[in-house]
Amino acid sequence: MLKIYNTLTRQVEEFKPRSKKEVGFYACGPTVYHYAHIGNLRAYVAQDILRRTLKYNHYKVRHIMNITDVGHLTDDADAGEDKMEAGARREGKNAWEIARYYTEAFKQNLQDLNVLTPTIWCAATDHIQEQINQVQELIDGGFTYETADGIYFDTTRVADYGKLARLSKQSLQAGKRVSLGEKKNPPDFALWKWSRGDRQMEWAAFGKMGFPGWHIECSAMSMKYLGDQFDLHAGGVDHIPVHHTNEIAQAESITGLKPWVKYWFHNEFLLIKKDLSAPAGKMSKAKENFITLSTLTDKGFSPLAFRYLLLQTHYRKQLTFSWEALAAAQTGLNHLREQIKRISPNAPTDPIWEEKFLDLINADLNTPEALALVWEALSAKQISEAAIIQFDKILGLDLHNIKKKLATPKAIQALLLDRAAAREQKDWTKSDQLRKKIEKFGYQLEDGPDGQKIHKK
Ligand code: AMP
Ligand code: ZN
Repeated sequence: MLKIYNTLTRQVEEFKPRSKKEVGFYACGPTVYHYAHIGNLRAYVAQDILRRTLKYNHYKVRHIMNITDVGHLTDDADAGEDKMEAGARREGKNAWEIARYYTEAFKQNLQDLNVLTPTIWCAATDHIQEQINQVQELIDGGFTYETADGIYFDTTRVADYGKLARLSKQSLQAGKRVSLGEKKNPPDFALWKWSRGDRQMEWAAFGKMGFPGWHIECSAMSMKYLGDQFDLHAGGVDHIPVHHTNEIAQAESITGLKPWVKYWFHNEFLLIKKDLSAPAGKMSKAKENFITLSTLTDKGFSPLAFRYLLLQTHYRKQLTFSWEALAAAQTGLNHLREQIKRISPNAPTDPIWEEKFLDLINADLNTPEALALVWEALSAKQISEAAIIQFDKILGLDLHNIKKKLATPKAIQALLLDRAAAREQKDWTKSDQLRKKIEKFGYQLEDGPDGQKIHKK
C-alpha cells in the first residue's frame, strides 16, 4: 500500500486516488528564461520517482507539466519585471525565442536524467483564453478588485486562505503598514496585469492590453486537463506559501469545491555553499549560485550520476551539493553497474528482496534505503538480473540491459559525435579536450582509418 506525505495535512497518508481509472497529477514546470539549474532538476527527479512508483503500483497516471513562459515576475509577489522579458534583454533576443530555446533545453535535461515524459506538456502562452476565462469567473464571483496596475484577487474573500502553508492571521497582515500601493491586503495577488506598452508578450482582455499573473496559469491548465478536482499537485517547498496557496484560492473560489487537490507533494531544496566556510544556501537563479546539468557533464560526470546522488537523500530532506559527493555518486553508480554485470544469467532471486524494495518505496518514496537494499541484495548474491530490471523501473538508472549499455553509454556517444565534428573542422584543441573527457569515463580512444574507436581501460 502506497503512502505519501501530504503537505495539506502534514501527514504521511495512504494514497487513495479520487478515481480508480486514472491518477491526475499536475507538476509546476520551469520558468523558461534560463537553463534549469540542478536544484530545479531535483524537483523533477523527485516527481519522477513518484510517477514511477504510482505506475509500479499499477495506477494509470495522467501527468501534466506546464511551461511558464509568461507572467512570472522577478519578485514572486507581483513586483519587478517579467522573467521572460528580462531573459530576452539579457540575451538580445525576443521573449518568444528565449521561451522556445530554454523549453527545449529543459526537455533535453529531463531526458538525460531519465525523467519520464509527461502525458501532456502545456505552455502558459498557449492557454491565454483559459486564463482570461478563469479571471472573468473570479470577477463575476466578486473575488477581485482593480488597481492602476491590474486585476487583483482579494484574499479576505476566502475564509481559509493560507491553509496549505498554515499562514496565521497575524502573518497574513504582516507588512500591512509597509506601503501596499493600491493593494488592499498584503497577500492579495495579481490575476492579470496591465501592460505599460513596453512588453513583447501581451494580449487584449478586460478592455486593455495586459498579461496573466503567474498563479492563474496553473489553475487554468491543471483544471483544463484534469478537471475541477484532482489527486496530486507537485513543486518545490518554495511554492507552498505563495504560488500553491494562491492557486488553491483561485480554484476553490471558482468551483466552490474543496479540496481542489487531494495530495500536495513538495520536495526540499538542493543547497550549495558559495565557498567551503560559507553556510549552505538554496540554489537559485536569482542568486546566480547555480550549476546546470551541462556544468556537470562538461566535467565528465554522467547525468545519471547526479540522479544517483539525488536518490541517496530522501526528497523531503535538504541536500547540499558538492563536487566530492557527485564524484562519490559517479563511483557508486559505476560500481553498481559492474556488480550487475557480474550477476550470473541464472542467478535465483529470493522474493523477499522485491517485497522489501516495494515496502521501502511505498513508504513515502524511501529511495536512500531502497538503493541500500539493492546493494545488500547484490552483495548477498541473492538477486537476478530480472529483479534488477524491476527495481530500475523506479530508480531509472539504466541498470537494465547493462552489458549493452556499458559499451555505449549515451554521454560517451555524444562526446564521440562532438569530437568527430571538431576533427572535421580541424579544431584540434577541442578534439583533445573531448579525448580527455572520454578518457575520464574510463575509456581508451584510438583514431584509426575508420574513425574513432573506444574500448574500456
Ligand atoms: P522555477 O523554474 O523557478 O519555476 O522552478 C521550477 C521548480 O524547481 C519548482 O518546483 C521549484 O519549487 C523548484 N526549485 C527551485 N529551486 C530549487 C532548489 N534549490 N532545490 C529544489 N527545488 C527547487
Ligand atoms: Zn504552478
